[in-house]
Amino acid sequence: MKSDFNKNLKIYNSLSGKKELFVPINKKKIGMYVCGPTVYNNAHLGNCRTFISFDLINRYLIHLGFKVRYVRNLTDVGHLENDDDDGEDKISKKAKVEKLEPMEIVQKYSIDFHKVMERFNTLPPSIEPTATGHIIEQIDCIEQIIKSGYAYEKNDSVYFDVLKFNKKNNYGRLSGRKLENMMNNSRSLDGTTDKKNPQDFALWKKAEESHIMFWNSPWGKGFPGWHLECTAMSKKYLGDYFDIHGGGMDLKFPHHDCEIAQSEALSNKNPAKYWMHTNMLTLNGKKMSKSIDNFILPSEIFSGNNKFFEKQFSPNVVKFFMYQAHYRSVLDISNDSLIASEKGLNKLFNGLNLIPELDCNEKPSDFDIESWINNCYLKMNDDFNTPMLIAELFDCLSFINNVKKSSKNLNIIDKEKLESTFKIFLFDVLGLVDKPESNNAEDKISSELIGLLIKLRNQSRENKDFKLSDQIRDDLMNIGIQLNDDKKESYYKKIK
Ligand code: AMP
Ligand code: ZN
Repeated sequence: MKSDFNKNLKIYNSLSGKKELFVPINKKKIGMYVCGPTVYNNAHLGNCRTFISFDLINRYLIHLGFKVRYVRNLTDVGHLENDDDDGEDKISKKAKVEKLEPMEIVQKYSIDFHKVMERFNTLPPSIEPTATGHIIEQIDCIEQIIKSGYAYEKNDSVYFDVLKFNKKNNYGRLSGRKLENMMNNSRSLDGTTDKKNPQDFALWKKAEESHIMFWNSPWGKGFPGWHLECTAMSKKYLGDYFDIHGGGMDLKFPHHDCEIAQSEALSNKNPAKYWMHTNMLTLNGKKMSKSIDNFILPSEIFSGNNKFFEKQFSPNVVKFFMYQAHYRSVLDISNDSLIASEKGLNKLFNGLNLIPELDCNEKPSDFDIESWINNCYLKMNDDFNTPMLIAELFDCLSFINNVKKSSKNLNIIDKEKLESTFKIFLFDVLGLVDKPESNNAEDKISSELIGLLIKLRNQSRENKDFKLSDQIRDDLMNIGIQLNDDKKESYYKKIK
């Protein structure tokens, strides 16, 4: 890699609404904080899109030669239903439903999240702190915010005083919301709340009798507010001011605007130089979300056991599909787009495998390898533009196929550069895997055997031996494998 590529990276900063040149706070070391999952259920594919996007960002920064401290938390307390201050805690609600301890819920779904992230071949964060592991730090932050005059205690809870804060600061500036508008659009307080204003948010909440997760504090038994954990943990591991803070678009408000307010109340600093937000994965045109029952789990897509898609798709294909859209664009998942991604990815892998077979000589080739490599970096340096990078890879693929078809020769140095650059972008940067995993050797054999049976059935259909073709289909169905016939191909799906 040419060293100056790391001086030309542009990042879209949600705070300014513009692409900005990335100038790290410290020359070589980067601090990045990403809001992690609330571990009360299995992460759906939408959640995964956000974490896969930040994996790409982490990988590319590492590839550019930066040393990244990547902190991604696990939210295991304080995230209440509807992102509200009065709902039930998501973890304790689930604990009651599943008749488990809240920490059993946390353990169960943290393990699931790690497994899913591993199947997508994402790099683990450098630190993965939990909210319950940082209660002391959160209490400390609250005490300091009270001292600064921006928080007040009422009936054993502590709230952030948004109106007072907004007199000298700008509350809502990340999401672009104006406090006056928020106040005009909100209902007046009904007397059941301790807040001075509806816009105030909880830093600490008193635990009512029914609440099963609580800690001692200077204000009595209670639990921390959701926004506070990220302020306390990012401050602890990355300091008052760090390079990148990220999360999904839906976290801009209230979560990130409240984080900014807390940090400014604490240290007079907006905590991050660059705020990055990923856009949503949609299914049937609607945001993928558990609360509206519009979601698919990664495991359901890998096994093919779901009502949305005709066949199973590997983590490699799903990840490649995600990268075909820019991280700031909405992306809708569908059967057709996954099939197209699978075909596209296979073509790229075939192209890569062809490179060693290309003939060599000393003459320069008509494809300018240097400018192609340059373009790959330019695309990634343009706010991590993966769809444009993939277009570059396909351009190069046409060249490889041309050389192969026309039995042209390729200069040996170019050939080596071509292969290594192709591999760098596919494996190091996009984080795809060389030999797509199969759960185990038996899985691989069984999918090959099913493929063989499908082939035999297709032959019998061509020979008009419908008795045999129906029998193969029915026998496969009896052992839980459903065949679906497309115009050109047959797909199978495991239904047991
Ligand atoms: P949660 O576990 O609800 O706190 O969400 C974890 C992360 O997933 C957050 O950064 C969300 O913004 C993100 N997220 C939730 N739904 C989607 C979606 N449909 N597409 C992309 N990211 C999402
Ligand atoms: Zn957060």
